[in-house]
Amino acid sequence: MKNIIFVAPPAAGKGTQAKLVSEEYNIPHISTGDLLREEINKSTEIGLSIKKDLESGALVSDEIITKLLKNRLIKPDCQNGFILDGYPRNRQQAKLYSDLLQELNREVGIVIYFNIDKETALKRTLSRITCPYCGRSYNLTVEGLKPQKANICDTCKHELKARTDDTEEIFLKRFDTYLESTKDLIEYYKSKGLLHQIDVENKEASLIFEEVKEILND
Ligand code: AMP
Repeated sequence: MKNIIFVAPPAAGKGTQAKLVSEEYNIPHISTGDLLREEINKSTEIGLSIKKDLESGALVSDEIITKLLKNRLIKPDCQNGFILDGYPRNRQQAKLYSDLLQELNREVGIVIYFNIDKETALKRTLSRITCPYCGRSYNLTVEGLKPQKANICDTCKHELKARTDDTEEIFLKRFDTYLESTKDLIEYYKSKGLLHQIDVENKEASLIFEEVKEILND
């Protein structure tokens, strides 16, 4: 399996697709947000230094991200490929990532861009509920993402709640910031012939997964 980068605005269903790909191809899903949160939870030196950045939504320094990512990518479970989520976030990080891969003698592989329009993404955000206990995410407007029993997590049976940051105001800010920072990144990978686009629209998760597999099996 190739190395994969997922690029997507908020509420495009990236997390769901990463989980499906990880299970189908037996490769790890590496989210830089998760790597950073892990450092914070373990109260490491890095964790303490980045806590404020994560709380405010500011980007963590490239130096820290590159270091954590390198430590993760050299682990044996990444040898057959991985799904990278949340990185690179801009053109500068794409350059650093390319240098890191060269050092590790690996290739960028495939970039999958999940394209979703703002209105659909907003609708999905406002109808998203998650399990505060295990983190699983559901959506009341997307087939295949509804919980089996209303308001109860299928996995751990805890009560589901809306995320406090899933408001219209915060969503619009996150979406615009995202578009601004990734425009260059998308163009960059397009120009290298590595970018594959999937239009999310109102498609079910299973249908999108079929499109993802088609790209990966090509
Ligand atoms: P996420 O889970 O991807 O929404 O990321 C949560 C937070 O982690 C972001 O708001 C940033 O503070 C930080 N973060 C995650 N990925 C990166 C990255 N590639 N570069 C810099 N900061 C990042």
